[in-house]
Amino acid sequence: MSEETPLKIIRQNRRSMMMRATLGGVEVYIPARYQAGDKCVVNFIKKNLPKLAEHVPPAPPVQLSQAQLNARFAAMCARMNAKPARVQWRDMRRKWGSCSAFGTITLNTRLAWLPADLVDYIFCHELAHLQELNHSKDFWAIVAQHIPDYKDKIAALRALEKAWWGKA
Ligand SMILES: [Zn+2]
Repeated sequence: MSEETPLKIIRQNRRSMMMRATLGGVEVYIPARYQAGDKCVVNFIKKNLPKLAEHVPPAPPVQLSQAQLNARFAAMCARMNAKPARVQWRDMRRKWGSCSAFGTITLNTRLAWLPADLVDYIFCHELAHLQELNHSKDFWAIVAQHIPDYKDKIAALRALEKAWWGKA
């Protein structure tokens, strides 16, 4: 990877700046009092990016476009008769999706890296949370109605996560 290394700048409650190589890009953590365009931030990145960029593992190939993801999500909503209050897409490091108590579903743009059957499982999982905001037996019963082999999907996801993020 070179100058095109995707950079993600994250403002945090922290004292100093930190950078790390992550799947497909570099993350830069800066104290909340700084802005991404501040001279000290720009200089910090300039100084540290070259040596870090060599260690960035390439992002997995995209398997589904955003339009395809949207279409599959709409299809799963219809199948489950689910009506999320709001749907938002975000680039997230270690979460495929989430569902808030207010019915907002947040989905990871990195779902584009997954095969369609695993994407459908994630959609089904988050939409099932609109009915059961927990991982109870009732929750899994809803998931199983639509994805009977959901346990295989979870196992496949864990294997990919481990390969991509070293997550056990
Ligand atoms: Zn869940």
